[in-house]
Amino acid sequence: NGERSSIGDEDPIVPLPQSNDHRWNDTNAYARKKVLQSWVQLPNGNWELGKILKTSGEESVLALPEGKVLKVKTETLVPANPDILDGVDDLMQLSYLNEPAVLYNLEYRYNQDMIYTKAGPVLVAVNPFKEVPLYGNRNIEAYRKRSNDSPHVYAIADTAIREMIRDEVNQSIIISGESGAGKTETAKIAMQYLAALGGGSGIEYEILKTNPILEAFGNAKTLRNDNSSRFGKLIEIHFSETGKISGAKIQTFLLEKSRVVQCAEGERSYHIFYQLCAGASPKLREKLNLTSAKEYRYLKQSNCYSINGVDDAERFHAVKEALDIVHVSKEDQESVFAMLAAVLWLGNVSFAIIDNENHVEPEPDESLTTVAKLIGCNINELKLALSKRNMRVNNDTIVQKLTLSQAIDARDALAKSIYASLFDWLVEQINKSLAVGKRRTGRSISILDIYGFESFDRNSFEQFCINYANERLQQHFNRHLFKLEQEEYIQDGIDWTRVDFEDNQDCLSLFEKKPLGLLSLLDEESTFPNGTDLTLANKLKEHLNDNSCFRGDRGKAFTVAHYAGEVTYETTGFLEKNRDLLHSDSIQLLSSCSCYLPQAFASSMLIHSEKPVVGPLHKAGGADSQRLSVATKFKGQLFQLMQRLGNTTPHFIRCIKPNNVQSPRLYEQGLVLQQLRCCGVLEVVRISRSGFPTRMSHHKFARRYGFLLLENIAAKDPLSVSVAILHQFNILPEMYQVGYTKLFFRTGQIGVLEDTRNRT
Ligand code: ATP
Ligand code: MG
Repeated sequence: NGERSSIGDEDPIVPLPQSNDHRWNDTNAYARKKVLQSWVQLPNGNWELGKILKTSGEESVLALPEGKVLKVKTETLVPANPDILDGVDDLMQLSYLNEPAVLYNLEYRYNQDMIYTKAGPVLVAVNPFKEVPLYGNRNIEAYRKRSNDSPHVYAIADTAIREMIRDEVNQSIIISGESGAGKTETAKIAMQYLAALGGGSGIEYEILKTNPILEAFGNAKTLRNDNSSRFGKLIEIHFSETGKISGAKIQTFLLEKSRVVQCAEGERSYHIFYQLCAGASPKLREKLNLTSAKEYRYLKQSNCYSINGVDDAERFHAVKEALDIVHVSKEDQESVFAMLAAVLWLGNVSFAIIDNENHVEPEPDESLTTVAKLIGCNINELKLALSKRNMRVNNDTIVQKLTLSQAIDARDALAKSIYASLFDWLVEQINKSLAVGKRRTGRSISILDIYGFESFDRNSFEQFCINYANERLQQHFNRHLFKLEQEEYIQDGIDWTRVDFEDNQDCLSLFEKKPLGLLSLLDEESTFPNGTDLTLANKLKEHLNDNSCFRGDRGKAFTVAHYAGEVTYETTGFLEKNRDLLHSDSIQLLSSCSCYLPQAFASSMLIHSEKPVVGPLHKAGGADSQRLSVATKFKGQLFQLMQRLGNTTPHFIRCIKPNNVQSPRLYEQGLVLQQLRCCGVLEVVRISRSGFPTRMSHHKFARRYGFLLLENIAAKDPLSVSVAILHQFNILPEMYQVGYTKLFFRTGQIGVLEDTRNRT
């Protein structure tokens, strides 16, 4: 770990600033005329750089670009770095580390297509929304040979490989950021590097081809991103002892099922539906009774069929090729497409009222017959599953007829579960194909591409789960970085009393505490037949109002104080989404199908029940309460994930979206700042501020500042020279530590020396 030099603003003192506090400056620094340039915040919130013309007490006069002159309160100024630090490739090198300085540095680099910047141990990647000349074999070669050392995903991947081999420890690359920030692209870039260095067996090619498949089935156009991943993904790439890729394993998290039956205006369902409709051969069309996307209710409702610059038919062929490569047989591929068509046709099933109690039955039209044909079931059984429900009351089974809205729910639930099962099945097939041989002696590098923190105007169950996952990851991030700090101090033998950092354990406990935490209470309410979103909201308020991270709001809303900010959730739909019921009648229907896939789906649904459902299904209870709730299952997955990541050396990449319109060359300060705060880049800085973030070897320190010494002791050893410098500049003893090999400084100390040096 190299030196992190000259970081720091002028205020070395803890207390740590709030994350929204940019004023880490020191008014006295202005009076002492140490600062020549300064940031000033304009009324629109943006920061502008000005030259300080005059500071008299509380007021300063600044010259802004274009000849403007501004008089401001000195305390509102934020010191700017000397020009020589423009665009440094590690934010740790900034003498004044504050929000405008970080924003400016990233923008400076972004404008020159240098989209990667280090923030100490973290790589920050700003989405260019255009092709940048940073990739491909020549660049891979340069990083492999280490002839290029500017920050890059390649450099991260390279370090991961080297550390895996050197330390014999598994590695992980953890990528986060909000929707559209570039996580999935970054993950692919990392995979390309690993494949290039660890390739040879051919399996690396298969691994790369999993991307188009998973993107077709798990990504969709949203208002934020034309290719938005609607699931989280961990890919574990295994290496043999000789450093060659030997296989891989993919785990997915929480696919957004609701998108199959419903999506917002201007968004699309999963890419594969449109690809199939556009690209299927005439023979396949006939076999699946396929028509155009515009004929399907599920695809029609959002009024969006195509994506700029994307040819769905062409993509369909690419997906088929990729399926070939991961050894999904032609026959299985056809079954997959039949399931997709079945889902589409299911959406077209409509209902007619059959009695004066508003009970309904599906219309016996083309859609119904096609669904029955595609999944291979008896049409009457399909009709029954969509119009009646077996309920168990005191050991008796009674048959309940469905009303229109209940029937639509049953239909949509069936469509969603077929799709989600299909997705899981595909991942399983891919894993079989990539399976690591029996001799699993080697090590692995895992890449995590998971949804970032979300805070919208309206937040529902999905955001609730996603933000919970982000709390877990943030804790991993904090603890790891803090541990790193501590280890370095101990290694260099300096006196290091534990400095507390802001942990998010309280918020995690709010979610996880039993029996009175958000997840337990949600599950409890989900098992009550009479539970509603309102009773849930009331229950949460009743039990959690004392918790400092929780606030009950009006009606069905509640607010959680996340590490990245407060989010207000509406409980509307929480119970239903958490229960995620598929009635046993529908499972029964699938298991009765003559086709292989629906049968496989049904049996895996039963396997995944917490307790096996005993007895013939149609006699079993109605609502299938034995199944794990969505939140509990997700929590289990997260624990498992954290355990796996806990045994690896992590490398963090934080992706940043510079604008909301997916357009190149547009850098919106406010938007970037908000993400820097959310994804914890400023947290790293804060953690560093509580310790001794600036390190420099005795040798380098003596060489760099030795000439400033008034007495000539150049002949002395580096340590003595260093100590003499510290004394001459009156650096207070509590502001530094002398280690075996390095000097460790509190934030801001080096700034004084640097300024003097620059003036000399
Ligand atoms: P989501 O959470 O919605 O899945 P994401 O963070 O995975 O979002 P990506 O799909 O990776 O975002 O990126 C969105 C788009 O940004 C890409 O489709 C691509 O057009 C562009 N993009 C991202 N990274 C790069 C890059 N390094 N070079 C060029 N374009 C990029
Ligand atoms: Mg993505």
